Amino acid sequence: MKKLKEFPLISSLSMMRVNQSFAGLLKPLVGESISGWIARGQHSKNPFLFDRAADAIEKFGAADADETTSGLLRRELTQIFDVNSSLFDYLFADYGSWLKHPANLRVDMCELCLFEDFSTYRRPTTRSIWAYSWFNICHVHGNLIRDLGSTIPSQAIANVLNHYMGAIPRPSSLSMQSPLSIRKLRMIASRTFKTLSLMALSFQQWYISALKAGKVHIPGAASTVALIDFEIFMSDLIAVIGKKRSYPYHQKSYIARLLDIKGECSLSVRLSPSAGPEACLCFEVREHPPEVRMAMFALLGLFIGVPHCVRSWQQGEDFQVRSDNLDRLWWGMHSELGQNLGYLEWLENRSRNWNAAIKERYSHLLVDWWHNRRART
Ligand SMILES: [Zn+2]
Repeated sequence: MKKLKEFPLISSLSMMRVNQSFAGLLKPLVGESISGWIARGQHSKNPFLFDRAADAIEKFGAADADETTSGLLRRELTQIFDVNSSLFDYLFADYGSWLKHPANLRVDMCELCLFEDFSTYRRPTTRSIWAYSWFNICHVHGNLIRDLGSTIPSQAIANVLNHYMGAIPRPSSLSMQSPLSIRKLRMIASRTFKTLSLMALSFQQWYISALKAGKVHIPGAASTVALIDFEIFMSDLIAVIGKKRSYPYHQKSYIARLLDIKGECSLSVRLSPSAGPEACLCFEVREHPPEVRMAMFALLGLFIGVPHCVRSWQQGEDFQVRSDNLDRLWWGMHSELGQNLGYLEWLENRSRNWNAAIKERYSHLLVDWWHNRRART
């Protein structure tokens, strides 16, 4: 597959600073996680400082060096490696805490990045950005980040090889999604899947830009809000976008229809509608498999109005450009055929916590489109 642009780029000036600062030590890769680099360093020719770093992580009681966003551990590491803290922060970007997996659940990786490590005689290593549920498409290879059954990259790549070759039965504890099933291959080859992947990639790039800026320019508005305010809003939309249908009472969820997922899946739950809307909402993104998560963030990008997401959707789906189409699509996601109005009520309640600028820009998401349409006709 054609390589996408590397992100972030390290300038030649920064590369010089890296070489000066880590003289005699194994250098970190672009985008490598701190814990991945330390683990590689412990197996290098000069492991002493990396062993000291591993001791410091243990002393701090952190599961690994990427566990905490508190500055204390990072500061200790900069002292151990005698490296300038601004260079350290530049090399090991902090992507915040929104939807970050704890260390023992960081099993989602890009197998092509790991193969690339392997083929260049480098110990396979983790990238910091793989630790987030909102990151679903590798920005280098363009493929889906997925559960490879281990938090240890060398074990993860062994799992992939074993699985592809069918040499060793997969232990039942591994939750690696079957990559070769005919249904999945058909899904990945579909035009809709490709459109959603592009949209998910655009959402990631938009969110990374917001993280770098430390604030969010609301798409389609002049206002700027704090990251935390926008993350609260996005979490509420994600809860609706990833909601399960109450089987067999409700229609198949929109994402299940988009991805052509049939039968029992994470988007279906055997609950009576009397269980209430909250029982079906998605409060834990990890409950869904990678392709569903990818579609969720693609649609999130569409509904918040990230320009590239909207454009890809319009081009990919022969979308009829009409002012109410997105409103209608959103209405369909929370209130199929007017059956499940409790979701809209839930969102209205949640919107009391939204920042005023967000509420003003996205007030259309709180409108009962069907009711308004009937009132007009
Ligand atoms: Zn990759």
